[in-house]
Amino acid sequence: MVPAKMRAARMYDVGAPMVIEEVDTPRPQSLDVVVKVHACGIVPNLGNVLKNWSTWFPQLPLPKLPATFGLDPAGVIAEVGSGVTGLKVGDRVYVNPGRSCGSCRACRAGDQTACNSMILQGYFGYSPTAQETFDRYPFGGLCEYTLAPASACVVLPDNVTFQQAARLGYTGTGYSALRKGNAGPNVATLINGATGTLGLPTVLCALALGVTKILAVARNPDLLEELRQIAPQRIFTHSVNDGSVRDWAIEMTGGEGVDLALDCVGPGGTGEQMRELLRSLRRSGKLVNVGAVADPVPMNVHKMMDWNQGFQGSVWFSTAEGQDMAEMIRAGTLDMNLFRQEAYPLDRINEVLAGIENRHGGFSNFTVVPNPE
Ligand SMILES: [Zn+2]
Repeated sequence: MVPAKMRAARMYDVGAPMVIEEVDTPRPQSLDVVVKVHACGIVPNLGNVLKNWSTWFPQLPLPKLPATFGLDPAGVIAEVGSGVTGLKVGDRVYVNPGRSCGSCRACRAGDQTACNSMILQGYFGYSPTAQETFDRYPFGGLCEYTLAPASACVVLPDNVTFQQAARLGYTGTGYSALRKGNAGPNVATLINGATGTLGLPTVLCALALGVTKILAVARNPDLLEELRQIAPQRIFTHSVNDGSVRDWAIEMTGGEGVDLALDCVGPGGTGEQMRELLRSLRRSGKLVNVGAVADPVPMNVHKMMDWNQGFQGSVWFSTAEGQDMAEMIRAGTLDMNLFRQEAYPLDRINEVLAGIENRHGGFSNFTVVPNPE
């Protein structure tokens, strides 16, 4: 039974501490589900979204305040709408927060992440019309019950915990970027920001996709070594403090350059750093930008034409790609056991946001647990 009221963390002003309040539990429309949240992932960038997004990226609007944030909920379906036939109460799911309107030209073409009104539920939107989508799905995962379209549910295998599943958001983001770059065996793949919250699961997905040479670039040598130990025959590491990324990448690929480079660094990354990645590409190589670098990046587009090179942005992932990850976890090819779980009750959300600076790179997995199992 779903109770009429639930506890939810709400933010009233940009950057203000969240307060825990009792609100009405959401009810499903015909194609929706209500999910009892057992874990909600907390990525370090949530702090930026709450405090700085309105100033840094005014084109990416927050939901109307007060709002309940929380990007990555995982839990159990507690109620289904009258038209839902493929899911049932009790199913274990991860909710893909990528929300689309369902009726614009991109949506009708099946391209959810190109929707004119796309939002990440519980996070931010991508256009001035985003609020319409927030109005339909107003709760993120920092509450006891969240609402989502049935079509956004990734059904979880038994061998993944809810806390691990709450990491699928950035994992899927990396996975989708790797697919756009046709990652696979014999596709030398450079991942910049490889030990971070986005980069580390991207490395795990590259392993799952069979990439045989992963060039992992980051800053901290200890974290890099820990990463290398996961698959020493396939992961090769370089600290940006130890000289040119480009020179190392060229050397590691017999003078050719990499087939694929992924930029996974956060908003603090520099344009110059991304330029190094472009210069690391071989002929016909491709850079997929999946991080959040906001600096201008000077590009030699004439050379890129001569060399048949590509540059592509990649935002989030489809629910189908989310289900791919669930199947890789089921089969054991994507290993979510490497993350160190840091779980907190809902009341301690403000402490989590303040303490996430002290994480063990991307190995740490911070979650809030609104309903203990
Ligand atoms: Zn749409």
